[in-house]
Amino acid sequence: MQNDFAGMDELYRDFILDHYRNPRNAGTLEKPDATFEDNNPMCGDKIRMDVKLRDGVVEDIKFRGRGCAISQASASLLTEAVKGKSLREIAAVGKEQVLENLGIPISAARLKCALLGLKVLKTALAVTKPSEDL
Ligand code: ZN
Repeated sequence: MQNDFAGMDELYRDFILDHYRNPRNAGTLEKPDATFEDNNPMCGDKIRMDVKLRDGVVEDIKFRGRGCAISQASASLLTEAVKGKSLREIAAVGKEQVLENLGIPISAARLKCALLGLKVLKTALAVTKPSEDL
């Protein structure tokens, strides 16, 4: 993990580590409307997301995972970002926004870590709403 943070601004490092150690919306939902789990074999990251929808809006979202700080912090940030958002708004969330949420430069090797949460979320929602253009 030392290398991940080499040369990184201390403020951002603390920000990422805080999300890693105290993930927001951690856990699972009792009866999720959408759920998916995937992993990143390159790094050993694993993330599961449970989503509760109401009228096409994310009413609640929980995630559970393990792996590197980047993958877990990214998922934590993503759950915060999409809570209360409509499926249409979430469909518009791309790689750029995830990287912007993290606020640090992500190396090519770490891109899969950073984007695992988004992939899991979009896959979960695509299963529930196949007609939506996710
Ligand atoms: Zn990773």
